[in-house]
Amino acid sequence: MLLSEVGYARPAAVEEAVRLLAEHDGARPLAGGQTILNVMKARAAAPDVLVDLADLEELRAIASTDDGGLVIGAMVTSAELVTSSDVKAARPVLGDVAAQIADVQVRNRGTIGGNVCSNDPTNHLPPVLVAVGATMTIAGADGERDVPAEEFFLGVYMTAVGLGELLTRITLPPLAGARDGFSSVTIGADGTCIVNAAATVSGDEARVVLGCVAATPVLLTAPAEDDAVREAVHGAGLEPPSDVHGSADYRRHLAEVVAARAVAEAGGGG
Ligand SMILES: Cc1cc2nc3c(=O)[nH]c(=O)nc-3n(C[C@H](O)[C@H](O)[C@H](O)COP(=O)(O)OP(=O)(O)OC[C@H]3O[C@@H](n4cnc5c(N)ncnc54)[C@H](O)[C@@H]3O)c2cc1C
Repeated sequence: MLLSEVGYARPAAVEEAVRLLAEHDGARPLAGGQTILNVMKARAAAPDVLVDLADLEELRAIASTDDGGLVIGAMVTSAELVTSSDVKAARPVLGDVAAQIADVQVRNRGTIGGNVCSNDPTNHLPPVLVAVGATMTIAGADGERDVPAEEFFLGVYMTAVGLGELLTRITLPPLAGARDGFSSVTIGADGTCIVNAAATVSGDEARVVLGCVAATPVLLTAPAEDDAVREAVHGAGLEPPSDVHGSADYRRHLAEVVAARAVAEAGGGG
């Protein structure tokens, strides 16, 4: 289906992008366009103006921090996460998981900012960013504010980024002796996740984040042992959706399995 008519702006600086977004209630950021253009074609959204972030070079950088963490611009693509030596050195799980997203076309165009701002509950990256304790930086008319990843995801397709605002970068803390893991069950080899889990294990403790089982990623902590992790997931009272790919009961079962696998991948499991 053809798009309905829409304005288009291509700012050269973040301040200009924020000003354009604030000027029009119906303005929306355009990143890789992988989701928003499909949503517009389906007539599920009709922005007045698309503010294209393509020329905002500062949103395209990946940098290591002095303490061994990472700062990732919102316009960094999944493909760039996969090949970045900074990501490999600091938090390799991010590149490993980005490599599992869909296919090469989607990874070449889709950005980390678009992935988290669309907050499709089946996406790969939100659980990872919550598990590692990332910080999301949002720019608006009043300047910048930082939001912890665990407070960023508010509902299906809803995040802490308000109208007139822009996610500019994501900061990941250093591993500092912790280890990360990820596991998922997908529809076909490179398909959408039915259930996924990310885990960060520090000492004997696991921070486990489940995706696809609720409107937002579900964070649990448990001793980093197989039985304890399964018990924590079992006791979490998950109410996942039922659909053609799996019943709620099947997803509850998978949640225990992928959580335990993610913790085992992170070196826990006992
Ligand atoms: C066929 C297909 C299969 C896919 N499979 C998977 C999958 O298995 N796993 C997975 O994780 N993802 C998957 N995706 C999603 C993909 O990886 C992208 O993350 C997603 O499409 C959005 O990224 P984008 O850069 O194209 O964002 P866009 O489509 O440009 O934007 C998406 C939304 O985020 C907003 N937005 C974008 N950037 C910002 C910003 N910096 N600040 C504020 N708001 C912003 C836009 O306004 C829009 O509402 C799939 C996509 C497609 C098309």
